Amino acid sequence: MTTATATQKKTPITVAYGDGIGPEIMDATLRIINAAGAQLEPEVISIGESVYTRGLTNGIEPSSWDSLRRTRVFLKAPITTPQGGGFKSLNVTVRKTLGLYANVRPCAALYPYIDTKYPKMNLVIVRENEEDVYGGIEHRQTQQVTQALKLISRPGSEKVLRYAFEYAKQNNRKKVTCFTKDNILKATDGLFHKIFDEIGADYPEIEKEHWIVDIGAAKMSDTPEAFDVLVMPNLYGDVLSDVAAQIAGSVGIAGSANIGDHCAMFEAIHGSAPRRAGQNLANPSALLMGAVMMLNHIGQSEIAQKVHNAWLKTIEDGIHTYDIYQEGTSKQKVGTREFADAVIERLGREPSTLKPVRYNASAPMDLHARPFKPMEEKRLVGIDVFVDWTGGGADDLAGVLQLKIPEGLTLQMLSNRGTKVWPDGSPETFLSDHWACRFIADGPHTVSHHAIVELLSRLASDNIDFIKTELLYNFDGKPGFSLAQGQ
Ligand code: NAD
Repeated sequence: MTTATATQKKTPITVAYGDGIGPEIMDATLRIINAAGAQLEPEVISIGESVYTRGLTNGIEPSSWDSLRRTRVFLKAPITTPQGGGFKSLNVTVRKTLGLYANVRPCAALYPYIDTKYPKMNLVIVRENEEDVYGGIEHRQTQQVTQALKLISRPGSEKVLRYAFEYAKQNNRKKVTCFTKDNILKATDGLFHKIFDEIGADYPEIEKEHWIVDIGAAKMSDTPEAFDVLVMPNLYGDVLSDVAAQIAGSVGIAGSANIGDHCAMFEAIHGSAPRRAGQNLANPSALLMGAVMMLNHIGQSEIAQKVHNAWLKTIEDGIHTYDIYQEGTSKQKVGTREFADAVIERLGREPSTLKPVRYNASAPMDLHARPFKPMEEKRLVGIDVFVDWTGGGADDLAGVLQLKIPEGLTLQMLSNRGTKVWPDGSPETFLSDHWACRFIADGPHTVSHHAIVELLSRLASDNIDFIKTELLYNFDGKPGFSLAQGQ
């Protein structure tokens, strides 16, 4: 365990006080961790509403990046995102700019001191933080149809999955569970699941399991104590980490860490609660738990443990802010400042009913990248041409297209919103104006890009409105593309 003494070198961190209740809970958090002996050298930057209203659509001053790159550690209070269009999410900007690939959110019940239906719940969600549909790559292609691209990469998945296993190992957790929807999303979620199995093999001491996300989410909402560490792609993690925090007792007590190779950001999971701002009402616990994760990250684990246990003792003593106060269980309703004072008074003490935490930074994580995977042979075998077309049924479109096909390609099928409609379509299938026309090599040869261009040129000369193309590749002989339903 690392000991932070008065002589230890101070760690520079970047601090943002944020909006709404942000300044009050940041003040409380810094007072507590400083009183505990944290060795920090904060640099303050301004983010959020005041920056947005000065016309910076990301909510952050360009000069603030210098501080973040210098300190590499960001303790951030919540901000208010202005209403109306044109503003970008600051959180998404920071995550993507700094490559913060893993979002870590512990959700543990503190029963009976904070009410919950799940007294034994104690899980951690590790959410992939950069990929999936969060690229925000969306298009409207026809009168009727819009699309969002879901991107899952091998290196992105490897990083977050390795992190989940290393987190489990460092925190003495016994099981890592992966949620995906790979029964439907075979290429994207299928890759995430496959890499979970590959990386999991490096951790024989840790139990591993995979659930389809729908039934897994149902199980987590019903029996959360069945899970330990959970890891999942971005969108499922976004939704389920809020569910987990809520059913543990309150979103007001959960902190989160956003981890990257070079930088990390720590915060509360809740927003700026503007209606509670400036009244000394807000619960600083979630930001404080974010700060505890930060202290662990920078090697000041002894301080992290001292703060966390004093906080548990305060909760156990029934000293509660309004949001967790309950008649009968709570002893004293306090404001933000008084809550912080109560935690400071208890520094050095541990809870007696709740389990005290033990942190150990002497076992650093091994986040090595996997050895380079040999390149697979990539071979072009066809093209899906997406067409905006309202000129009749599937047979009519197939008839038009078949007159246009250059040598070496053949029209294999038409699909509409993912369902095969030609050949042998079903008369009941609803047909939108958005068609995928699959042209495939008519033999074992590789298709040339010239043949693709020739095909598109012929379609263009017949005023076929192709709105998007996807080239079809085999990798080591295996198709790298989905089959349509019904195919
Ligand atoms: P919110 O989390 O601010 O508030 C939801 C509810 O929880 C409110 O009733 C609020 O009073 C209560 N609450 C939240 N934190 C509390 C605390 N520490 N102590 C006591 N009560 C607390 O969510 P919202 O109202 O949807 O959003 C308000 C603003 O925050 C919006 O502008 C939103 O965009 C922003 N927001 C920011 C972040 C962030 O900076 N990471 C995250 C979420 C929302």
